[in-house]
Formats: sequence, structure tokens, C-alpha cells
Amino acid sequence: MHLLIMGPPGAGKGTQASRIGGHYSIPAISTGDMFRAMKDSDTPLAKQVQEIMTSGAYVPDEVTNAVVADRLVADDCADGFLLDGYPRTLDQVSFLDGVLKEADCELDAVISLSVDADELVARLTRRGATDGRADDTPEAIRTRQQVYADQTAPLLDVYRERGLLVEVDGLGDIDDVTRRLFAALDQRAGDGALVASS
Ligand code: AMP
Repeated sequence: MHLLIMGPPGAGKGTQASRIGGHYSIPAISTGDMFRAMKDSDTPLAKQVQEIMTSGAYVPDEVTNAVVADRLVADDCADGFLLDGYPRTLDQVSFLDGVLKEADCELDAVISLSVDADELVARLTRRGATDGRADDTPEAIRTRQQVYADQTAPLLDVYRERGLLVEVDGLGDIDDVTRRLFAALDQRAGDGALVASS
């Protein structure tokens, strides 16, 4: 099972990703988490990545692609994976296409979590106050939303055209969103477009 989960900042990708990963017994791989983990290393690259993240901009494609390629060859990805927050640019889409082709596998579905803009800002502001994420400041939130709209939202059309997009309403209670999400994936499996798994 090879899945992607996409959505604007604050849509709840991380929470749902770990549930989906657990359900299908595949690793949920978050590039944001991988980059955040770099904050403990004292290298010029790690510092550059932290600065970029704090501003709300995207880490350059060549860095992001290299980190993902390294991660996907790990043993736990042998039966599949769920990528959370990757790809985010057209260049990353092409790179991932190449990685999948090389491994002789294909994406099964791309989950898109949608939440309205006002709710997103409210969620991120709440998270900034409780989790202390450096990029949950009002300024970084605005940058992240703009970068998402410019560079990542167009990817939804790419995957829609490929017939892979599964759109799920991310508004409301977390458990309700999870239920909607599995219902949408189950329906896709019922349509024969997804290999069903328990
Ligand atoms: P996230 O935890 O997914 O919201 O990601 C947090 C931050 O990590 C983003 O705002 C970017 O700075 C960086 N990041 C995560 N994934 C990517 C990606 N695929 N491409 C570029 N930057 C990324």
C-alpha cells in the first residue's frame, strides 16, 4: 500500500497519518517531523533547514528529495508507506514518480484533507500556544498558507487527473474525520481501485 496524504497547514494530516499507518501496518513518514528532528544536529544544513522552517518557507527540493529517497529504502517501507507532507512541489512529484518507478510500484491513493481557511488559522494559533512550534506564529502561518496555495495546491489537480485523489472533509471532531477517511478509502477499495487491507 503506497499512499500520500495532502492538505493545507493545520488540516490535521499528522494525526490522521499515524492512524492510517497503524491501520495498514505501514510507516507514516512525515518530512516535517524528519526536518524537525534535525534541530538537534549542529551542522550547517540542519541550521539552514531550521531557519527555513521557522520562516514558513519550503526546504529546497534537492534537500527534501534526498531525505525522502534515503528514508524510502529502509526495510520498514518494503510493504508500502504513507507519505505525510510530501510531495509539496511539482519537482517533488516528478522525483517521487522516479523513485516509485525504480522500485516497480505505484501509488494506490492520494488523500486530500480539506478544511476552510478561518478554521485552519484558529487551529494553528491554538497549536502555537500549546505545542510551541516555531512556525505556528501568525507571520509564519501566513507564509505557509501562501506557499501551500502557490506551490502545493496545484498538485491536487495532478493527482485528480491521475484518478488517485480521495477527498475528505477534515472539519470537525478528529474521530469523525478518521471515520470519513476510512469510509472513503473503503469505497475506493470496493471500487477495485485500492487493494483492501485490514
Ligand atoms: P509540516 O510538519 O508538514 O507542516 O512541515 C513543516 C515544515 O517543514 C514546512 O513548513 C516546510 O518548511 C518543511 N517541509 C516539510 N515537508 C516539506 C516538503 N515536502 N518540501 C519542502 N519543505 C517541507
